[in-house]
Amino acid sequence: MNPCPCGYLGDSSGKCRCTPDQVLRYRGRISGPLLDRIDLQLFVPRVERETLTAAATPSAETSEQVRARVVAARERQLQRQGKPNAALGPKELEQHCRPEPAAQTLLETAMTRLSLSARAYHRVLKVARSLADMEAVTVIGKAHVAEAVRYRELDRGQP
Ligand SMILES: [Zn+2]
Repeated sequence: MNPCPCGYLGDSSGKCRCTPDQVLRYRGRISGPLLDRIDLQLFVPRVERETLTAAATPSAETSEQVRARVVAARERQLQRQGKPNAALGPKELEQHCRPEPAAQTLLETAMTRLSLSARAYHRVLKVARSLADMEAVTVIGKAHVAEAVRYRELDRGQP
């Protein structure tokens, strides 16, 4: 979706003239329960035409390497709990997705500050678990929770 009715909110061109009320009403078209279920909400800035046509910049990892990490992370999930993180129920979450104490505190603070629902809480936890799995880390740490929360930009009212 666009960030606002005209689509230019947060753009460096400064073209957006939408009022905060208009932006709120526009975003309100997505219901809370639906938004809860969108785990990765990211603001993607407009890409300049020159950037699109320029030669591809070398990235740190190839798609093939990323794919291998994803497959390994999924395999880790199946071995640990017999199903992918996305399919975990609330009870299983407590068992398999318990963050270390500092990460738990950070998560609770973020949930309160953003007034996220219980459903959103569980989903942030699953994303954090997946991020840890992508690094082959056993315990969910603060960095994983922080990154998972960062991915909820609409909930956070960004941009
Ligand atoms: Zn606008």
